[in-house]
Amino acid sequence: MTQELHIIGGGMAGSEAAWQAAQMGVPVVIHEMRPKVGTFAHRTGHFAEMVCSNSFRSDDDERNAVGLLHWEMGAANGLIMETARAHRLPAGGALAVDRDPFAEAVTARLLAHPLISTAYDEITELPADGHWIIATGPLTSTALATSIRSATGADSLAFFDAIAPIVYAESVDMSVAWMQSRYDKGETEEEQTAYMNCPMDREQYYAFIDALLAADKTEFHEGETAGYFDGCLPIEVMAERGRETLRFGPMKPVGLTNPHSDKKPYAVVQLRRDNKLGTLYNIVGFQTKMKYGAQTAVFKMIPGLENASFARLGGIHRNTFINSPTLLDAQMRLKSRPNIRFAGQVTGVEGYVESAAMGLLAGRMAAAELLGRSLPPPPPDTATGALITHITGGAEAKTFQPMNVNFGLFPPIDAKGGRKGRKDRYKAYTDRAKESFTAWLATQ
Ligand SMILES: Cc1cc2nc3c(=O)[nH]c(=O)nc-3n(C[C@H](O)[C@H](O)[C@H](O)COP(=O)(O)OP(=O)(O)OC[C@H]3O[C@@H](n4cnc5c(N)ncnc54)[C@H](O)[C@@H]3O)c2cc1C
Repeated sequence: MTQELHIIGGGMAGSEAAWQAAQMGVPVVIHEMRPKVGTFAHRTGHFAEMVCSNSFRSDDDERNAVGLLHWEMGAANGLIMETARAHRLPAGGALAVDRDPFAEAVTARLLAHPLISTAYDEITELPADGHWIIATGPLTSTALATSIRSATGADSLAFFDAIAPIVYAESVDMSVAWMQSRYDKGETEEEQTAYMNCPMDREQYYAFIDALLAADKTEFHEGETAGYFDGCLPIEVMAERGRETLRFGPMKPVGLTNPHSDKKPYAVVQLRRDNKLGTLYNIVGFQTKMKYGAQTAVFKMIPGLENASFARLGGIHRNTFINSPTLLDAQMRLKSRPNIRFAGQVTGVEGYVESAAMGLLAGRMAAAELLGRSLPPPPPDTATGALITHITGGAEAKTFQPMNVNFGLFPPIDAKGGRKGRKDRYKAYTDRAKESFTAWLATQ
């Protein structure tokens, strides 16, 4: 008889992983601590509870990377996507969901599956043997998080994310910005030119500080204690400490020479490469609690970023996640203990859809292994493949922060031959992805 697969956490990722593995014929036990042990965000004991917004975001599978992920999960018979569609609410182009009936339906489908059983208990230690998927999400219980941390190292698990906005490299105006590391540091030319620099004069700097101070900010959720570490203070909190603070912090203008002008910059905003492909750059030190609309308006005041496209905006949240680029192999297994896989938000993806997609993949990979087969990850030109490639190696490990799916994670496409403009390029990405994903599914 096939060995059992144990899944910790019946959230978006755990539910999808359980469904996929059971559909492949592998018996599954879901260990879920709710309703016995709660979190500050969950309200019910249901699987797949949506803790905040009721949206799975854009459903446009032709020109949007999240919509493409919906499509791929649908093509792979994903339970979360099928149930979301069955409980859809009118919301324009977004896939909004009637949250309670949705979670109830996911729970009912899982409980009714002949190969799935459930244990309502909190797992407090990293399991020593057996086959496991850890899908405990951003609010992983403290005991388990502590056990993961002691097994993997202090720097390998974070309790907060501190996300600086991420910009598509191609949208930065390089007639204003330039590539240079501070003091040209580094052995190779690549290292000496590792950062994009955006200069500000005196007026631009103070106008930027005024806008930062005036911008709308989000509060922490109830129960999400604010204790920021000094190393990841929100940029607006730094600005509140004094109008010059940023000029002596992340925006210091020293060690940089603007090749476009003889005038010495009063402040410089630096952007650092965020993925190996070099398609994404994060604005260094710009983690923020500004509301999304305010962020775009304020960050577009930075010279060179007037027309920037953002792959994701900044934020700071309570979020438990591991350093996947160093800890996980391409099969989502803990390198040091390959009987354990990780899935969902705890791997450093961000969002309901991304988490469910990583559950789908982990469930299939674990089941394949238990059935004596091996399932290669989907190609990196698919949405699922781009995400898994990013978290297990494409992302810069030192600065790893949770990531939404976006086209910047995909290998660039040559969209010539009649296709022009961003929308056509996105269509070319999704056409290519659908073909690749279909071929990947056909091998299983
Ligand atoms: C306050 C808050 C608001 C958010 N808002 C949004 C939003 O609006 N949109 C969005 O897309 N994403 C949002 N997210 C992120 C969201 O949590 C994830 O997108 C998604 O729920 C992650 O899925 P998951 O399966 O990885 O984790 P979850 O869905 O959280 O599931 C993890 C499960 O593991 C269980 N668990 C934890 N520890 C243990 C243990 N030791 N033993 C047994 N069970 C355990 C938990 O009870 C939970 O059921 C938010 C997160 C938070 C914290």
